[in-house]
Amino acid sequence: MPSKVDYWLKRLLPRRCVLCGMEAGYRNLCTPCLADMPWIDPRCDRCGAALTGAAERAVCACDDLRLECIDRVFAALVYEYPVDRLIVDAKFHARPDLARASGDALLWALGSASSLSQMWPDLLVPVPLHPNRFHSRGFNQSIEIARPVARRLGIKLARNACIRQRDTPAQSTLSGRLRRTNPRNAFVARAVVSGRHVAIVDDVITTGSTASAVAVALRAAGAEAVSVWCVARVMRSQAAAAKL
Ligand SMILES: [Zn+2]
Ligand SMILES: [Zn+2]
Repeated sequence: MPSKVDYWLKRLLPRRCVLCGMEAGYRNLCTPCLADMPWIDPRCDRCGAALTGAAERAVCACDDLRLECIDRVFAALVYEYPVDRLIVDAKFHARPDLARASGDALLWALGSASSLSQMWPDLLVPVPLHPNRFHSRGFNQSIEIARPVARRLGIKLARNACIRQRDTPAQSTLSGRLRRTNPRNAFVARAVVSGRHVAIVDDVITTGSTASAVAVALRAAGAEAVSVWCVARVMRSQAAAAKL
């Protein structure tokens, strides 16, 4: 069990980049590693996909994700190396520092996305884990991602505004059709979201099924607008190749 002294030393000393080990200031990723990430730019204002060719258009066909009750998706990165490793290793090797590094990347992208300023949310709601999974993993990666974003942008992190009432199988273990039906009715949101613009925070958006299930619950509890802020997005070509 780490002592309180260890805890504060870790908080106060400059952090090391989780990718290259260089000093990274208050972040978990250094500036050169951040600059080398596979950023989505330009991105679709509605579904977060990378726009190709006609960059003057702000939206694409937006037909590869389920966007039920979701106004817009903001995704920082293409789901490929090294962010795919950060996301997978955070969850399966119990590394909350990697999830916070993903949050640093999301924050970096949000900071340069001027089009978002009219759509700034009142609350950040991390995609909840079922208590069984939270206890076995020891942390919720979406909460860790949301922490640096909430702190730096001054947006309230409402970690208990939505709960997962059904313990559904992990999306990563399922194929396409099951992925789309698995999270339905798994979530319930609390009245704190009523009349608010809420941004759901997640690590990766693949089919949009989980985010949509959370968004449906948020709307049922009275949320006025729902955005999704995620670290990475699976692109249409990647989904087709993986038969998602
Ligand atoms: Zn680095
Ligand atoms: Zn789109």
